[in-house]
Amino acid sequence: GRAQLYLNNAPSEVKELAQTLNMLLSRLSQSWEQEREFVSNVSHELRTPLTIVLGYLQSVLRRQNNLTPSQQEALETAASEAEHIIRLLQDLLDLARADSGYLHFQIKSYVLNNLVEEVVLMAQKYSDRTIQIESTTYPIEVKVDYSRFKQVLLNLIDNAIKYSEAATPILFKLNQLSDRVIIQICDQGHGIPLQHQSRIFERFYRVDESRSPATGGSGLGLSIVKTLVEGMGGSVSVQSKLEEGSVFTISLPRSSSGI
Ligand code: ADP
Repeated sequence: GRAQLYLNNAPSEVKELAQTLNMLLSRLSQSWEQEREFVSNVSHELRTPLTIVLGYLQSVLRRQNNLTPSQQEALETAASEAEHIIRLLQDLLDLARADSGYLHFQIKSYVLNNLVEEVVLMAQKYSDRTIQIESTTYPIEVKVDYSRFKQVLLNLIDNAIKYSEAATPILFKLNQLSDRVIIQICDQGHGIPLQHQSRIFERFYRVDESRSPATGGSGLGLSIVKTLVEGMGGSVSVQSKLEEGSVFTISLPRSSSGI
């Protein structure tokens, strides 16, 4: 809701001041709303043509088998950049929707162990990194939105892969408390300096660009993770030690009834 200052019995100067402040507040919140709408519209408008461009690029790559290696490479680069921008636009759209309360969740009960296994199999289609799953019990039942939850886990796996060496494994730890479910994703990567740990969930925040120039991230991934997890009634946090690795911990409501 909109902030308002109520000062019924105050002297007139104070009332006037309060009125001015209220006017400013209402203008501010109007301009925030306009900004959200603008971001949302621009993302939407750009996504459609880019998706078409990507479609053409992919179809040329599929059908033309007489491309020179450099043509092939140019088209592949263009396609992967287009994919990158489309993902970025989708993230911006999700965040704008979340801000204005239009991000909807279809919360149902699932067996956490199976969901995590599915996501790990998906990730292993594009990376040959070793990903292990450890669980205290089976089945652990969780209440989430199926596709949003997968999006969260994929974002965290992507990061774990990006920010650690190829030879190191990634580990999922699943745990069940009386009314919560705890999911931890652990990597043995570069780690995150303590002074940055509280800020990495902010939009566009990246730790030391020069250390990870090749990863081409936008700094939106973890803000999406936080928004989605909180939207499903959960929370997310990080523990990390430089040159040892990072652990991202998600806590979500446990499903009380049977599935
Ligand atoms: P992006 O990966 O696109 O930069 P994110 O929002 O996903 O954006 O992450 C923000 C920053 O947090 C990253 O730039 C990186 O510096 C740091 N980070 C995220 N995950 C990890 C991880 N598993 N290990 C080390 N650093 C990480």
